[in-house]
Amino acid sequence: MKIPGYTLNIEKAVETINEKDYKKVCLQIPEGLRVYAFEIVKFLEKETSASIIISADPCFGACDVANYELQNLDVELIIQIGHTQIEDIENYWIPTLFINAESDLNISKVIEKAIPLIKGKKIGIISTSQHIHTFETVKEILIKNNFQPVIGKGDNRIALTGQILGCNFSAATSIVDNVDSFLFIGSGNFHPLGLMLTTRKPVIAVDPYTNQTRIKELEELKDIVLRQRYGAIARSKDAKRFGILVGIKRGQQRIELAYKIKSILESKQKESFIITLSNFLPSYLQGFKNVDCYISTACPRIAIDDYMQYKTPILTPVELEILLGQKKWDDYQFDQIIK
Ligand code: SF4
Repeated sequence: MKIPGYTLNIEKAVETINEKDYKKVCLQIPEGLRVYAFEIVKFLEKETSASIIISADPCFGACDVANYELQNLDVELIIQIGHTQIEDIENYWIPTLFINAESDLNISKVIEKAIPLIKGKKIGIISTSQHIHTFETVKEILIKNNFQPVIGKGDNRIALTGQILGCNFSAATSIVDNVDSFLFIGSGNFHPLGLMLTTRKPVIAVDPYTNQTRIKELEELKDIVLRQRYGAIARSKDAKRFGILVGIKRGQQRIELAYKIKSILESKQKESFIITLSNFLPSYLQGFKNVDCYISTACPRIAIDDYMQYKTPILTPVELEILLGQKKWDDYQFDQIIK
């Protein structure tokens, strides 16, 4: 099925529903694609005999599997649009089918534009799920220009070869010693920034939506973010009471890490308690007035992306190690959920 800008393999969902004769199906659609919700529902209702309902809870990634309570609405299948499955999530409460949204944008123009800016010979190609299908075209252009493209395989949190998530850069770290630099295909800052901080290699980001290439802007952004992180650690220097945040979403739960952090803090005579949340908003935490610092074990983006929204500093587990003197600032690493 085509929607403006994307191809969705909704036909696969039709096949699954008809094969299993599901009668109640729930759609999870990320914010940006909700404008096409009616078209998708109408298509599914025409091609199957299932009733389709839509979950409007936030759905930021495949970690965000729909609510257990949907079982009470007799939902037999969940279709999550726009993400690829995170294999290491065990025991989905309700069978869940992931339908990727493949971008229809032509990649060639922006890759050609990037060619004179690429550093080195061996180039790691990295992207998010929307653009992985363009890799053959990207490889051809790189080879034609005498580069050696390299594509890495991630751990079992990663569905597609060469794919990264904001919480997992294993497809890049698997090839980091074999490449001179990385070519990131996609939009936004977080993924290329994480790629830079995780691999410490030059990164050129190409955005097929805007046809822009970025190197210097990313370097500047990296410096800003590192300054913010250094500031957050410095502000937590005298913290005595810690809140350890655990995400309730299935693919974000790091409760064992939270217990480990709690025991480390106790060994340093610091008080702490564990707080669970599904969606993180500053207003949900503002009642904990005597917490001096939060440590987030949930989505790594919360501490970095939402930094300005919180009055109390939020650190990642790696940053806590720096705060406690167990790691040096020079060894700063991006927080990842790795299996
Ligand atoms: S934990 Fe965060 S970065 Fe990872 S898949 Fe979920 S929303 Fe994306």
